[in-house]
Amino acid sequence: MSAPAQSTVELDGRFARELAELAVPWRAQEVPDPRLLILNEPLAIELGIDPAVLRSPDGLHLLTGNLIPAGATPVAQAYAGHQFGWYAPRLGDGRALLLGEMTDRSGRLRDLHLKGAGPTPFARNGDGQAAVGPMLREYVVSEAMNALGIPSTRSLAVVATGLPVYRETQLQGAVLARVASSHLRVGSFQYARTRGDDGLLRRLADHAIARHYQAAADAEHPYLALLHEVTAAQASLVAQWMLVGFVHGVMNTDNMSISGESIDYGPCAVMDAFNSASVYSSIDEGGRYAYANQPLAAEWNLARFAESLLPLLDEDQEEAAALASEALGAFRSEYSAAWSAGARAKIGLHGDVDPTAASRLVNDLYALLQEGHVDHTSFFRSLGAAARGHAEAARRLFPKPEGFDDWLGRWRPFGPDTGLMDRVNPVYMARNHLVEEVLAAAEEGDLDPLSSLLNAVTRPYDERPGLERYAAPPPEDFGTYRTFCGT
Ligand code: AMP
Ligand code: MG
Repeated sequence: MSAPAQSTVELDGRFARELAELAVPWRAQEVPDPRLLILNEPLAIELGIDPAVLRSPDGLHLLTGNLIPAGATPVAQAYAGHQFGWYAPRLGDGRALLLGEMTDRSGRLRDLHLKGAGPTPFARNGDGQAAVGPMLREYVVSEAMNALGIPSTRSLAVVATGLPVYRETQLQGAVLARVASSHLRVGSFQYARTRGDDGLLRRLADHAIARHYQAAADAEHPYLALLHEVTAAQASLVAQWMLVGFVHGVMNTDNMSISGESIDYGPCAVMDAFNSASVYSSIDEGGRYAYANQPLAAEWNLARFAESLLPLLDEDQEEAAALASEALGAFRSEYSAAWSAGARAKIGLHGDVDPTAASRLVNDLYALLQEGHVDHTSFFRSLGAAARGHAEAARRLFPKPEGFDDWLGRWRPFGPDTGLMDRVNPVYMARNHLVEEVLAAAEEGDLDPLSSLLNAVTRPYDERPGLERYAAPPPEDFGTYRTFCGT
């Protein structure tokens, strides 16, 4: 059952009401002359908003936080976070506002949040601004992730503010309207815990359960069930990142969502040539958030989440710690199970294949990809053709194909399911060189390349003639890719 699209946007202020200690009522900066750069019409419709309303002058004022629907209380959310291992007790939304929650057409509660809405009391030394490039980047990557079937925050629109933003050069300002199943972060729990207010912590946990893990409310021990659920959600999420070669880049605890959605696409990147040591972020000097470290980083963050929950787990803190560590102990096996099942599917094997044989095949293949620095996305997609008897495209990706030939000979007798492979191995990814290209064009005022890339990456498994350049590895001269925080 779905309700008709409404012409006005209705927002609730549930987070602000239930968790006032974590919500600072705030107003967006004035944006006199907003200009719509991109609107996600299917998402608007999913939310029950008529896209024409968002395109109207009032719609643009809404999307920049300058027009507040009746009943809404825009707030900057307070949260803490471990940034590269160092604890910051007070981060919070320095340049973002939660406008409120809306009920989408399928009855789900979704946050509407504005990034780049001006400085808030959490801005510290930041200017509260966001530039067009990074906001369009988040738009493309988040929509690509969603289309891959990976839980992600969504992007509703990017609106240029007309205000200057000063980075290394002067840039155009923009606001990203982001939609998420919530903006509760591990850092939100750390903030509540650091305040030493167990009542607040309990309300926050209850809010998280009500929004994301309703079954936990009926569990014998709801807060322990919450920890189990969040652990499982993150194990599954990070396994999916790994399977498509996504590197988040800044897995600080403030950037880890309780819902299990990917959030905060700052310095993220997609791996082209396979290399488990891949790091793109210019500030990640130690490779803390390198591709292969992501499961460990997630587990570390979950341990911080568990610590924050300790007062709710048991009155006896030793008992609480024992319960927490048992729950966290599930992460490794859950991650391994999710990753192994996904990797088996990538090579077309179903669950009925002998697990030892399957994992030997998978591990040997990844060793070959690592050794040859083979293009990850192209390889797996072309492996489907190899199963159909056309191995040339896959072979060509290896500098020395002998090892791969040998592997093919061992793999083919398993009778890989090519239909399955084509459903799990994307053709099109928001590859770094493509993203950079469309952002450069957008900065010159040309948004057509952005639309074309979005057309490719929002149907990533559906190979279409004419889109070959969106499937190809980067040109030789693209060089080493670097990404930046503080965008
Ligand atoms: P991040 O790790 O990029 O998600 O951001 C870390 C923290 O910095 C968050 O509290 C952000 O709100 C804040 N922040 C990032 N950029 C700015 C900015 N330009 N102005 C104010 N705060 C910012
Ligand atoms: Mg963040």
